[in-house]
Amino acid sequence: MVAFDFRIAGDEIRTRVVIEFEQQPEFSYHLLASPYRLVVDLPDTIFVFSDDLARPRGLISDIRYGAMAPGRSRVVLTAAGPVKAEMAEISENESEGSFRLVLDIAATTDTEFSKLVEEQQWDTQGTAPDTDVARPQDGNDDMFTVVLDPGHGGIDPGARGRNGTLEKDLTLAFGKTLKSALEEVAGVRVVLTRDDDRFISLPERVNIARQNGADLLISIHADSFRLRRVRGATVYTLSDKASDEMSREMAARENRSDLVAGLSLEDEQDTVADILIDLTRRETEVFSIDLAREVISAFDGHIRLITNPHRSAGFRVLRAPEVPSILVEMGYLSNVDDEKLLTDPKWRERTAELLVAAIKTYREKIGSVSN
Ligand SMILES: [Zn+2]
Repeated sequence: MVAFDFRIAGDEIRTRVVIEFEQQPEFSYHLLASPYRLVVDLPDTIFVFSDDLARPRGLISDIRYGAMAPGRSRVVLTAAGPVKAEMAEISENESEGSFRLVLDIAATTDTEFSKLVEEQQWDTQGTAPDTDVARPQDGNDDMFTVVLDPGHGGIDPGARGRNGTLEKDLTLAFGKTLKSALEEVAGVRVVLTRDDDRFISLPERVNIARQNGADLLISIHADSFRLRRVRGATVYTLSDKASDEMSREMAARENRSDLVAGLSLEDEQDTVADILIDLTRRETEVFSIDLAREVISAFDGHIRLITNPHRSAGFRVLRAPEVPSILVEMGYLSNVDDEKLLTDPKWRERTAELLVAAIKTYREKIGSVSN
């Protein structure tokens, strides 16, 4: 399926969105709350129109589109207030043999919006976040399992560099480089949460780590920050209270990933705070902090670090209770010098080697504690 044109017109009362397709698409749509969104599900679609065409206007404040999963794509239209679809129809452009999807979106009241959300039929198969808690595997094999998590992907591109680099591409490239470097180490098994350009929800990423009985999880990012002079690597661990304002902002941004992709977070519960889990969490926290320190000391003097490079905040991807987890911002795409480094495969290789060294040291220390 190819979508080759996108048009949006209208005002704060009524907005029309038209998407042109080469073939006739099967589609479905639904509404989601907090924030108000209209989500259109499509079969596997390549969006070839220019990003400039899909600029928000009228009722729509944000537009995202892209891959969700193999065979599925999605358009997410975010609105500033409650909206409804007055029309959602496919029609054929007879002269060209192409098809257009027309969405007429109108402002509505909160009451009507909630009623529509409640009444809608939504085939949730594969679209709702996977909240099943995986049964953690016993670490009964001798392999040391590292789960690498390239941030973002598919419909969620992450940050965009000033020269157009997409975070989701960098994190994937780096994830693959790090995987090959780590696989050189005897006894280490590496699992990537994604090895292509697809969307994976944050709970799914956590589940992949748990299901694989991960000994650690490293989530890889290269975000942007509003202060463009900020540059260098940062290593984050999980905490309820953010260590500082910047970390709070970064976590809020990362945690929006699922919203951007049109997932509903309402039914996601925080893990029950029973005492056993609390104890596991406390132990996991200590290991996570150790790992963060090893990474920083491996980086120190070789690659640039921001001031106070170990920070913490409430990143959802770091919430596996029994898997020591860190999130590494390798640099900031909002900084032109960092963008240059991040896009350099040589730099990525060197950085991967430093991470491998850190993981090795961490693993040796853990080994000497438990033996
Ligand atoms: Zn990111």
